[in-house]
Amino acid sequence: MNKNPIHVIGGGLAGSEAAWQAAEAGVPVVLHEMRPIRGTDAHKTDGLAELVCSNSFRSDDAQTNAVGLLHAEMRLAGSLIMSAGDAHQVPAGGALAVDRDGFSGAVTRKLEAHPLITIQREEVLGLPPADWDQAIIATGPLTAPGLAQSIAEVTGADALAFFDAIAPIVHFDTIDMGICWFQSRYDKVGPGGTGKDYINCPMDKEQY
Ligand SMILES: Cc1cc2nc3c(=O)[nH]c(=O)nc-3n(C[C@H](O)[C@H](O)[C@H](O)COP(=O)(O)OP(=O)(O)OC[C@H]3O[C@@H](n4cnc5c(N)ncnc54)[C@H](O)[C@@H]3O)c2cc1C
Repeated sequence: MNKNPIHVIGGGLAGSEAAWQAAEAGVPVVLHEMRPIRGTDAHKTDGLAELVCSNSFRSDDAQTNAVGLLHAEMRLAGSLIMSAGDAHQVPAGGALAVDRDGFSGAVTRKLEAHPLITIQREEVLGLPPADWDQAIIATGPLTAPGLAQSIAEVTGADALAFFDAIAPIVHFDTIDMGICWFQSRYDKVGPGGTGKDYINCPMDKEQY
């Protein structure tokens, strides 16, 4: 087998899983992650696989939901993302939601400890150099400008991603529980919940 390293650019969800799978298959990996040297507009930490938005991996129901089936297939494939997600699950009805700090910390520790993975904290400024035998670009929607520009030039795309939503973190003690109530979607108990895992906040159009 070719034992030249695979270079993975970006230590987010995709890059962390890619690095893990290659290394578990016996192939050395160099994982290039620019944080904390250079940040993004959304990431807050230097942890690998930091969730920048919702902490939900959506439905965990492998019987009736395609996302849940994908979760099951990833578990069978020895997924690092799924094992860290399962270990840091928080109640969320039928969905798999995770404690984002615990999840990212677990992924980071596993990758740092893997004997075939070298983590380099540096920004990759352009397309992979010719002497990198194989490379995976997994820099996500917030790819640093230099690399994004290079990808745009090669692909002819004028943009790589767009912001379509936000998921603000709301502190519990700011919610009026005289108006709001606990209930999961469809009252689903799910893999680790009670059927009352979400706070429902009714709003009219103007308040929303
Ligand atoms: C504001 C916002 C809201 C979102 N909301 C949702 C949501 O609700 N649900 C959902 O499923 N997804 C959402 N997403 C998408 C979310 O980012 C992806 O689901 C997920 O993070 C993508 O994983 P990834 O590994 O592709 O990218 P990321 O997790 O972003 O990882 C990419 C990594 O590459 C690094 N990087 C970037 N450029 C370079 C470079 N040149 N050199 C080295 N490292 C680099 C970054 O620092 C980062 O760590 C949202 C994204 C944003 C920005």
